[in-house]
Amino acid sequence: MSYVGPDFEPPQPRRPRRGPLTVALAALVPGALLGWLLYETVGGSGDDGGSGQATVRSSPPAASSPPADDATDDGKKPGADPTPAAPSASAPAGASGPLKGKVVVIDPGHNPDNFQHPSEINRKVNIGTNWKECDTTGTSTNDGYTEAKFTLDVAHRMRALLEEQGATVKLTQDGDRPYGPCVDERARIGNEAKADAVVSIHADGSGTGNRGFHVILPGAVNSGAADTRAIVAPSRDLGERVAGRFVAVTGSAPSNYIGDGSGLVTRKDLGGLNLSTVPKVFIECGNMRDSKDAASLTSGAWRQKAAQGISEGIVSFLHG
Ligand code: ZN
Repeated sequence: MSYVGPDFEPPQPRRPRRGPLTVALAALVPGALLGWLLYETVGGSGDDGGSGQATVRSSPPAASSPPADDATDDGKKPGADPTPAAPSASAPAGASGPLKGKVVVIDPGHNPDNFQHPSEINRKVNIGTNWKECDTTGTSTNDGYTEAKFTLDVAHRMRALLEEQGATVKLTQDGDRPYGPCVDERARIGNEAKADAVVSIHADGSGTGNRGFHVILPGAVNSGAADTRAIVAPSRDLGERVAGRFVAVTGSAPSNYIGDGSGLVTRKDLGGLNLSTVPKVFIECGNMRDSKDAASLTSGAWRQKAAQGISEGIVSFLHG
């Protein structure tokens, strides 16, 4: 396609809304490194939707190793946007459009500041079927571009696209809280919003050579506070549409290491899915630890396509 994306936007001030907090964050960098080192030690198993494979992490998070495209990765709106999926692209957010009245919750996986709060995010929460860590730090590329930064950027791009369709869009976190939310709260936010669809955004941390995306669907569980039986079918519908549009828009292939080539995986161990009462899926957009996938994941133009593909899947699901 001829679209040249937001990679070519002029650099913008990074997270200007944070203001004085930036100073505080700078002072906390040693804390971030401490959190990272602890994470290195205790490992990252948790409700991150990933394949669960252990990976050797050799580089620190972005706090001490800024990603190459930092200037364009502040999650600002994608400026000169490509043409969205539907004709009413010029409608003000939420005012009109085919998704008017629909509520979409986007769950950007992890939190850029989780690294600084190891004890808080390691606290166990009940996910109905068992207990899991509140949240995890997520993974990163070998060059230090963090999954949390990736998920927030894709979420911002999706929000812009979906609001153009008239949807009411809510994020579970916007880099605006010290850590988390915990996985149970992530589910609760979607439930309480009575969301018509929820998508949790992630990127995986698997081995080199493992490539491609996969969508994670809730399995049927009925234990404690977890009862997914009513959402299994609609979530599968949502997930299949998201996977289909993701392939079409990004050109990415389904995972070559999980899902038997379908790009779809069903899991019963994720609190974010187990505790959901509304249709919800996770998407692992690629493998940050593979250099070829990482080249895509760190590209703003690619992330715009990823956001468009996921959003088109949601639009398709909501149109029925
Ligand atoms: Zn993740």
